[in-house]
Amino acid sequence: GKRSGRHSVLCYEPDMLGDERQRRFVERELRAALMMNELELHYQPIFSADLQIRSHEALVRWRHQVRGMISPAQFIPIAEESDLIDKLGDWVLRRVCADLENLGGKPVAINVSPMQLRHADFAGRFAATLAETDTDPRRIVVEITETVPLNAGDVELENLAALRALGVRIAIDDFGAGHASLQYLRGFAFDIIKIDRSYVVNLGASRIDGMIVSAICDIARSLPVEVVAEGVETQEQFMQLRQAGCTAFQGFLLGRPKPLARAGAAVAA
Ligand code: C2E
Ligand code: CA
Ligand code: CA
Ligand code: CA
Repeated sequence: GKRSGRHSVLCYEPDMLGDERQRRFVERELRAALMMNELELHYQPIFSADLQIRSHEALVRWRHQVRGMISPAQFIPIAEESDLIDKLGDWVLRRVCADLENLGGKPVAINVSPMQLRHADFAGRFAATLAETDTDPRRIVVEITETVPLNAGDVELENLAALRALGVRIAIDDFGAGHASLQYLRGFAFDIIKIDRSYVVNLGASRIDGMIVSAICDIARSLPVEVVAEGVETQEQFMQLRQAGCTAFQGFLLGRPKPLARAGAAVAA
């Protein structure tokens, strides 16, 4: 297909790179996996500056019978090419609603694909699931990336506004990784900014990255919105991010994504 180049690194068979049949094969297997309950959610804790768990992010995992754990970076892009992403998204929301009571009364952030937001009935179906499962919308955070178009009148914008009106909080994921970060802040009243990991990884080595993180935190403080730093792997990064004014922290230093039974347990750094 014309977009197969995008997927060449995502297939698990290196000798079949870019092969359309391979992509369709993964899609079929994923569809079956959804039905056969081979998908799982892992939860990664998000901490406050004083290292209390404030919330969790739900991250989907595919436990394949033959190939073992497959990362979402490998299969989400394939799911996004069909209605599979909608089915997967519905499954994730239902799973989260069922898991909420075992996550210590704390909010859960879920990743929503830009593709899901293109359906006019997305927010309505989302709200129906929350109502059906008796879920408080204020305990749900929806994370979206900067690739979602947010022009006045766009269905994407209307879906986000409808969710937010319910009490669902909306986060910009991977903030700074796209080309229109600041425009994004003007386009919608976000509740949370998640600073992209690429700004965190070079803290200490790169003075400019430190300055950018501080500037993002300054803007966030005056809006005001919460700033989550993701990909925190070292003590030094954590100290710098806290110094810069980040209000929440997520990363392997503080806690890895884990299946529910162990998600709430403290993890050694
Ligand atoms: P993301 O939303 O930016 O999620 C954060 C990713 O960073 C996760 O990768 C997480 O495991 C990883 N991570 C967390 N802390 C650290 C750290 O300290 N260092 C490093 N190197 N990585 C860290 P994961 O779970 O492989 O997910 C990859 C991407 O797949 C996610 O990026 C998100 O875009 C997508 N994804 C995951 N679950 C879902 C889902 O349920 N629905 C949709 N639409 N997309 C999902
Ligand atoms: Ca995310
Ligand atoms: Ca992210
Ligand atoms: Ca990402």
